[in-house]
Amino acid sequence: MKFGGTSVGRPERMHQVKDLITRGDEPTIVVLSALSGTTNALVGISDALAAGDKSLAKERIDALHAHYLEFYPALLKKAPTQAKAEAIIREHFEFLNILLKISFNEAINRDILAQGELISTKLFYTLLEELEIPAVFLPALDFMSIDENSEPELGKISEKLTAILSKYPDGRLFITQGYICKNHKNEVDNLKRGGSDYTASLIAAAIKASVCEIWTDIDGMHNNDPRIVDRTRPIAELSFDEAAELAYFGAKILHPASIWPAQLHKVPVRLLNTMDPSAQGTLIKETVESRGVKAIAAKDGITAIKIKSSRMLLAYGFLRRIFEVFEKYKTPIDMITTSEVAVSVTIDDLSHLEQIIAELRAFGTVEVDRDQAIICIVGNMVSETKGAIKSVMDSLVDIPIRMVSYGGSRHNVSILVDAQYKIPALKSLNEGVFRW
Ligand code: ADP
Ligand code: ASP
Ligand code: MG
Repeated sequence: MKFGGTSVGRPERMHQVKDLITRGDEPTIVVLSALSGTTNALVGISDALAAGDKSLAKERIDALHAHYLEFYPALLKKAPTQAKAEAIIREHFEFLNILLKISFNEAINRDILAQGELISTKLFYTLLEELEIPAVFLPALDFMSIDENSEPELGKISEKLTAILSKYPDGRLFITQGYICKNHKNEVDNLKRGGSDYTASLIAAAIKASVCEIWTDIDGMHNNDPRIVDRTRPIAELSFDEAAELAYFGAKILHPASIWPAQLHKVPVRLLNTMDPSAQGTLIKETVESRGVKAIAAKDGITAIKIKSSRMLLAYGFLRRIFEVFEKYKTPIDMITTSEVAVSVTIDDLSHLEQIIAELRAFGTVEVDRDQAIICIVGNMVSETKGAIKSVMDSLVDIPIRMVSYGGSRHNVSILVDAQYKIPALKSLNEGVFRW
């Protein structure tokens, strides 16, 4: 069971989490995020330190510290556990304050980002102690690891976690941190923003759990982004493939990579609402019945690159040479479209854009469009349901489309538009493709 930032962000919510994790019979691993707002605040502290602005960093550390000094007395009622919580908070803020005195580097940045999950799990564990609910504290840094390409090492995670769990044959509740891990240099690292979902799915796969529950602040995956579009509704069931596409292409409710581990071991994933635990939520599993468009998501910060060359005409090996450039710079491609004489691809990692462009120029003229958005439409596009693609295109008649990718899989159409058209596209698709 994974609980996100808002689910643990207030003392009374932590109490609710306690109720939810103690009502079932199965042994449970509980994965917690940092309290909502904490990781953003830690990023702010890191940014100030990176910019050499120690007084701003200090101001931010003190503001976050004040938040925790208010939080714990509302969470805990007994003097001994309050004293424990105070000591936990003191230790972590002493650590942050020491960083004001030493020189900043990337490893320190990651240490800073890890503080949120470390504090939230320790405070929650202290709450369980106060309520005399038996539980085992499992430090994620003892078993969660990534390799030199920042990919989780599922085999090792599984081995280590199984060995640790075998020490507690009667354990019923285990509390651990989402998001944080060790990297190949044995430094503290993380699974990128929103990574607690990924932790939960990796753990579920590592121990072949019966289910992976992601508890958040909404009643499941909605058919469109509820922050942008009115009248969205939860989807009862999604296949792993559909959920993976939606997560990867921008549905913020799930970390982009959080589906594959569960899918690998066919562990069903449930998205549930901490604020409304009886809501049905979304069940993600191997196969589901799908007709027509099920959901839409959008991913910002996309750059499109077009390589145009008459040498591409009737030539073989052209695409391979182009893709090798992206491979060399470890830059994943999201969308691809081709014509006889040109190929367009999209990327969202711009760290090596200049080198990539320079090398692609060897193959022809290169055009770059920044600030694009991918609109991802997921459902059964090729089923008996006629007109799924027609309703998509009809909805977008007023929107200039830069690329379309259809047929890569039977459940996805991706459309690239300039970022300024993202919101209008999401809104008109909502009107056009879902029957109300
Ligand atoms: P947590 O802190 O629990 O991980 P997140 O904020 O990461 O929660 O994700 C939940 C939020 O995702 C929701 O509050 C909602 O605003 C947003 N969201 C974006 N797209 C969707 C979608 N398609 N369905 C449901 N929620 C979505
Ligand atoms: N606390 C981390 C973040 O805010 C991880 C998570 O919440 O999933 O990104
Ligand atoms: Mg999240």
